[in-house]
Amino acid sequence: MKLHEYEAKNIFKEYGIPTPEGFVISKEELSKIDDIDVKSVVVKAQVFVGGRGKAGGILFADNKEELKEKINELFSKEIKGEKVEKILIEEKLPIKKEYYLGVVIDRNEKKPAIMFSTEGGVDIEEVAKRNPEKIVKYHIEPRKEFLPYSARWILKHAGIPSKEIPVVADVMYKLYKIFKDMDAVLTEINPLVITEDGKVYAADAVLNVDDDAYYRHDYSKFEEFGKKEKLEFAYVELDGDIGVIGNGAGLTLASMDIIKEFGGNPSCFLDIGGGASAEIVKKALKKVLENPKVRGVFINILGGITRCDEVARGIVEILKEHPNVKFAVRMMGTNEEEGRKILEENGIPYETSMEEAARKLMESLA
Ligand code: GDP
Ligand code: MN
Repeated sequence: MKLHEYEAKNIFKEYGIPTPEGFVISKEELSKIDDIDVKSVVVKAQVFVGGRGKAGGILFADNKEELKEKINELFSKEIKGEKVEKILIEEKLPIKKEYYLGVVIDRNEKKPAIMFSTEGGVDIEEVAKRNPEKIVKYHIEPRKEFLPYSARWILKHAGIPSKEIPVVADVMYKLYKIFKDMDAVLTEINPLVITEDGKVYAADAVLNVDDDAYYRHDYSKFEEFGKKEKLEFAYVELDGDIGVIGNGAGLTLASMDIIKEFGGNPSCFLDIGGGASAEIVKKALKKVLENPKVRGVFINILGGITRCDEVARGIVEILKEHPNVKFAVRMMGTNEEEGRKILEENGIPYETSMEEAARKLMESLA
């Protein structure tokens, strides 16, 4: 789950990371502006859009009139298709330098990694492509503490002026603490600003937390909580046009492999799990077919606690609604005979060999 910039900054504040003075408003709270003294401010749309600034989501104002204009402008437009529900208004910092600071999970190393670059403000992926040597990456042993001297060491290697090291190291140390305490999967400060008078600020904030850690936290206070669709199966969307449904992660992965083997490209990985009812099979098929790219669906069921007749009942109902999509069903195991009968009565071919099923599906689509 993603936290909005203002939510992330509230947490940064709690941990003592300096953030610009500011407040957040929604459309209903426009009158808040009337009571305040406005100097130079940054007006920031609270949307989850990469390159928000470039997409017109970051504006500036120097007085109250301008601020009202800019707020109206943001509320009345979409930023890359996303509506603006909230706006963060902050004092404009006199920026001297922009650094990048982030903590990510490095899945290859199975460790969190701190990333720092003196080339901040811009898209960090661009820096990684053009000047990878400008990014310092430091892996942390998850069971060990990350101590301030390591933060100073990283910054020394990144080549920032020595008088900045203590303040930036302090932010780095605290940001890793937030990452760990919050069960985050990603946190970023881009830009981490050094002002003309040598102070450090988190001018932007990204904090994405791990949904699977919800039971250890009170994530419900965040805006995005509960907004994500809750599915009763594991679904990962992919780029291709062949839906792949299996029971069990291993069988589903093998099904993707076999589709690839016969020249297809999976549109998803969908594992209905063990013991799925006809109801869940229907929901799973619906989910797969929501994607307009899907031309064919490969269903691969090895009945153990999953009953083939239940699966067949689910398949039959959905198939009727999609005459233009090609289906291949491979089914064997518990209640295979009953399942086979249901499919046959409805004119749906099935196979007991997954190679045969995949080959026939791909042939019918060629
Ligand atoms: P993003 O586009 O979503 O990453 O939005 P940011 O909050 O990072 O803002 C984008 C850019 O706007 C920054 O890299 C800065 O160059 C500029 N910016 C943001 N806040 C300030 C500020 O307080 N003062 C100044 N001078 N520029 C700012
Ligand atoms: Mn940014």
